[in-house]
This record gives sequence, C-alpha cells and structure tokens, in this order.
Amino acid sequence: MRYYPVFLDLAGQLCIVLGEGKFAVEKAAALREAGAKVRVIPAHDYRPGALAGARLVVDASEDEQINRLSWEEAEAAGILINVVDRPAQCRFIAPAIVRRDPLLIAISTSGESPFLASMLRARIERWLGQEWGPFVTLVGEVRRRLRQQGLSITEQTRVYRRLLNSDVRSLLRGRRTGEANRLAAGIATAHGNGAGRVALVGAGPGDPDLLTVKARDLIAGADYVLHDALIAPETLALCGPDTRLENVGKRRGQASARQANINSRLIELARAGHQVVRLKGGDPFVFGRGGEELDELKGAGVDVVIVPGITSALAAPAAAGIPVTRRGVASSVAITTAQGGGSIDRLADLARTADTLVVLMALGDLSEVAAVLSRAVGGSRPAAVIGNATLPNQRSVSGSLDSIARLAADAEIEAPATLVVGDVAAAEEAVSLEGVRVAL
Ligand code: SAH
Repeated sequence: MRYYPVFLDLAGQLCIVLGEGKFAVEKAAALREAGAKVRVIPAHDYRPGALAGARLVVDASEDEQINRLSWEEAEAAGILINVVDRPAQCRFIAPAIVRRDPLLIAISTSGESPFLASMLRARIERWLGQEWGPFVTLVGEVRRRLRQQGLSITEQTRVYRRLLNSDVRSLLRGRRTGEANRLAAGIATAHGNGAGRVALVGAGPGDPDLLTVKARDLIAGADYVLHDALIAPETLALCGPDTRLENVGKRRGQASARQANINSRLIELARAGHQVVRLKGGDPFVFGRGGEELDELKGAGVDVVIVPGITSALAAPAAAGIPVTRRGVASSVAITTAQGGGSIDRLADLARTADTLVVLMALGDLSEVAAVLSRAVGGSRPAAVIGNATLPNQRSVSGSLDSIARLAADAEIEAPATLVVGDVAAAEEAVSLEGVRVAL
C-alpha cells in the first residue's frame, strides 16, 4: 500500500467519531485540537445516514457490524473514513506525530509497524529540540520580509542557510530570544552576505556513526567540505545535497606545498562568505595539522570553530578490544607517529616511559619501528596492529614486537593502521573482554 501524505485543514469542518471508548475519546480530542467541529456518536446510536455532511469519520466503535456499515456509508458518500484497527477499511491512516508548532512531522510505516513508527517518533523528539518551534516561526517571519523586498529565491536561500548554520537555534534553545532575533535580523539585512566561517571538524576513525552530532550537523549544512583522502564515502554522503566537496588529501612528498594550498583555499572560501568545513580523520588536532590551519585562519581574521573528533589513536585499539589504560596493567599512554616528527630514538624513549605506546602511520616502516622498540623494551613486549579500525574491513593482529611486522604482513593488514605496544596489547587481555566484538 502506498499512501498519499497530506495535512488536512479541518477548521470548522464536521468530523464524526463513532464510539465511546478510549480511542474514541483520543480521536475526538485530536480533531478538536485541529479546530474541527466534532460530533461523537455512541456506538449503539449509529444508524446508516448518520454520517451525512461529515468531511471525515473515525469509527472507534470496535464493533464489527458497525464498522462494516459505517465503511459502506462513508465510501458511498465519498467521506474520508478511518476504521480503527481495520486497515482494509481505512481511506486514511493517522501518522505518528512530532509537533514543534508550526513545524509538524508525520511518520508512517504504512501500517506495517506502529511500534517502529513510535520508536522513530521518540528519536526525532529527542533529536529536534523544542527550539525548532520558535526557530521555524522566526525563519517564517524573515521569509515574509524577504519576499516583500522581492529577493530572488537564490538570495533567499542563502539567508535561510545562514540562519540554519548560525547560533540562532542555540540561542533559542537557551531562551535568549532577544539575542536570537537580533542575530537573525542581522543575517537577513545583510541578505546572507558577510564573512563566512571555517569549522575544523574531526570525522572520527572511519565508521560514519562515530561522527559527533555537531560534526553531522555542520557537514549537513556546509557550503563547502574540504576533506582528507581517507574520509569514508558513507561519511561524505552525510553532507548536504548542495554541499560542494573538495578532496584535499595529501600525497607523500608534496605535503607542505599542499598544506599551503589548503590554507589559502580555506581563507578564500571563508572570505567569500561560505560556511566551510575542514573535515579531517580522527581528531583534527591529533597529527592532523589542525594546529597549523587554526593559526593561519586566525591570522587571516577568519572565524573558526573547532569540533573535536574521536581519534583513531584511541578508537583503533578500542575497536580491537584493547583498553589502552587497563586497570592494573597500564596507567599511562603515549601517542606518537612513525613518520616525521623527529628521530626514531624518540619512539624508544616513549616506549620506555609510557605503559602503552600508540604509534600512528605505523605500517610504512613497521619492521624498522618494531626493531627499534624491541631494542628499547625487549622483543617479547606485546604488540598489536589494527588496520581500518571501525570500518567493515577492520583487520588486526597481535603478537610481540619481534613478530608483529611479519604477522601484519602475513595478514595483509592495510593502511590506515595503528600500532599498539604494551602489556594491554596481549591477545588474552583483548579477547577476555565480553560483549564486545573483538576482531583480533
Ligand atoms: N587525526 C587522525 C590521525 C591522522 S594520522 C586521528 O586523530 O585519528 C593518520 C593515521 O591515523 C594513520 O596512519 C593510522 O595510523 C591512523 N588511523 C586513521 N584511521 C584509522 C583507522 N580507521 N584504523 C586504524 N588506524 C587509523
């Protein structure tokens, strides 16, 4: 069954409810709330002909005989009828509703699962805060004003997008209505022009579900998303329909030239008034060059927002069931990289001082790194490598520093991969975790 969704204007219209039970009372109340003229007919008082003149009928009599008669009468008269709990005798069905007046969201599973409809309703209730009501009202007021001024649809859209991405909603959430109105008025008066903004956003380790709510909101509303090569297509799919994507992933060897290009592109776009997201894997400030971008943007006088992400340095071990600070085993963790960032001696020093050592960008020089660490803390120190953590193709191996490079090669672990060194990486530690999908 495919339904045609509508919202009915029933103000002053005659609507009839048959029955006197709980459902009848509820339906009558809902219809009255919509301004309908409601007539309730107790089940035993119904006679064919009683529905004459009604726009809409709800039969909540729960009486099979009455159900059949009311359905036949309504059908013959062309009146919309819903016979409660009898899908075959319904010209319309009532959706589950989320109300943020004037915003109204209707959910239907076409009768397949009222349970799922009400679960989704509950989720949307939590997702869309109460501020959405006043926000929609405010945007409606702005819209009337812009139309009066004869602004083109394109210009109007720019204003709406600006309003959506601005702090107006969070001000309304905090009941700071005056400030929200002033901010909205400013955006409307400037016709959505004015300085843009760059958000430095962490995309998490890979699984799109590990984005923060803020990250999701920002990429959904962005004009531009400049992203690393590693960001999963499923994550990019969460960008808005009009969001322009630019892959600015760095290749080895040209890193610094490309970084300069990225910085100037971010500044150029923000100055042109765009809402820009710089989307980086993991956390932007953990070996993500977010610090440099922040400096450049601030130096150029561009507005910057920072949205931390779940770093793969912690998520990769976690996804493999390795608690980096397992109680009684490790009480410190160091995060470093096998690439650049100074000499390889630094790795040895860290391995000696931290209980757990997490090494990013580990795969390229894994044998060399493992050998250095092995000389520093002994070849039997447990180690694990996790590739593509939190993604469907996550693979990991665990062993000792002496064996880990061979194990990783044999298992064909692919980049991006993270190395974890320390007693927490021992296989028996990891697999003893219950209730966690352990992919060792
Ligand atoms: N800012 C990022 C790290 C960038 S450096 C963060 O906070 O996660 C890139 C390195 O991160 C990779 O070489 C790899 O070591 C690690 N990495 C990123 N995604 C990963 C994943 N899904 N699984 C395992 N390691 C990952």
